[in-house]
Amino acid sequence: MRLTEPTMHADRLLVLLRQIVGTPHVLVAPHATAPYTRGYRFGSGPVRAVIRPRTLVEFWRVAELCVAADQILIVQAANTGLTGGSTPDGDSYDRPVILISTRRLRGMHLLGGGRQVICLPGTTLHKLETTLARYGREPHSVIGSSCIGASVLGGISNNSGGALVQRGPAYTEMALFGRVTAEGRLELVNHLGIRLDKDPVKALARLESGALRADEIDWPDARGHDDRYVAHVRDVEADTPARYNQDSARWFDASGCAGKLIVFAVRVDSFPAEKNSQVFYIGTNSPARLEALRRYLLTAHDELPIAAEYMHREAFRIAEAYGRDTVALIRYLGTNSIPGLFAAKAWLDNYLSGFNFLPPHITDRVMQKIGRLLPDQIPEKMRIFENVSSII
Ligand SMILES: Cc1cc2nc3c(=O)[nH]c(=O)nc-3n(C[C@H](O)[C@H](O)[C@H](O)COP(=O)(O)OP(=O)(O)OC[C@H]3O[C@@H](n4cnc5c(N)ncnc54)[C@H](O)[C@@H]3O)c2cc1C
Repeated sequence: MRLTEPTMHADRLLVLLRQIVGTPHVLVAPHATAPYTRGYRFGSGPVRAVIRPRTLVEFWRVAELCVAADQILIVQAANTGLTGGSTPDGDSYDRPVILISTRRLRGMHLLGGGRQVICLPGTTLHKLETTLARYGREPHSVIGSSCIGASVLGGISNNSGGALVQRGPAYTEMALFGRVTAEGRLELVNHLGIRLDKDPVKALARLESGALRADEIDWPDARGHDDRYVAHVRDVEADTPARYNQDSARWFDASGCAGKLIVFAVRVDSFPAEKNSQVFYIGTNSPARLEALRRYLLTAHDELPIAAEYMHREAFRIAEAYGRDTVALIRYLGTNSIPGLFAAKAWLDNYLSGFNFLPPHITDRVMQKIGRLLPDQIPEKMRIFENVSSII
């Protein structure tokens, strides 16, 4: 049965949601929902409630109930996405919006000695990276957002990681997800390569327990990363870029779903940790030279660069002026401290937003002021190089 208004009154829905996840994890007051309803770069809007399930079964029950009550569902992980899809955008939705935050749903299960990993929705890239390091392996995505607490699943949903030349954007064909049927019911689809019960509650509880027997784990042909990207990125004569947002070639179940499915777990490949890698800085004022270099690197050798980033002069200067605090934190405290510090900053930003007399972005302003008192964080030779490259 589909429970629509007035069959399920708003308050009744909230009562049922509280029964599932507990009262402290149903947030309705604007100051409580604020950290979840404003995007990192853009997008914001009101929600009826933010729900924070603790287990996959709670997540399923919340989603099933909200679908039955004809609510709009936004699933959010770490809310660091830059495309606007992690939060509501405006207040002109035709139905109430319920936002489900998956941050409490952390956990991962290593398969085959860490060759593959099953990640639950709130598992961060950083946690995956530190866990795999013990096995001499690394995750597909070692990207800028790893150190700000971004999740594995948010990356898969957005096909993140465009700087990764060898491995390409985040992608997998193995996922356990919920989708809404034509009759408006939530159904669980198991493409994880793990033998699970047909009953969603039993299946999700079993997966979360992690106590999987060898005979429950299949090794299907499905991809755990996009191994076709290596050939794709070498096609330098193509009239489209190798990587752009919303590229349907990278859509597969959870991959690129951008929140249109409700994903409970993904299974992804890991890789032997890179050893003896070397960073090259290349600067020029001539796009034609960069173009020639790009074609050469992508076509002339068997081996491809691991990753490539592009930064124009203005961004270099902005980073030099306003990024000193972040570079200093990474230099003096290490990348491990960054996710915790970003979480503390998000909490403080939210707390201070209640004081209307303070200017916006107060924490960033203070940090940048402190940063100016620090010595230059960009090495002297790179600053000289920036000026030299302006005449090449
Ligand atoms: C400072 C910074 C640096 C960055 N560096 C890079 C970089 O180097 N390379 C790069 O590619 N990207 C980069 N990014 C962007 C990065 O891709 C995203 O920040 C990250 O992948 C999003 O992860 P998240 O956990 O925050 O997901 P969220 O922002 O919470 O969600 C992202 C999307 O996934 C969906 N989603 C999340 N969980 C689920 C679920 N369980 N089921 C269904 N849908 C779900 C959401 O609905 C949303 O559409 C950067 C971002 C920042 C802020």
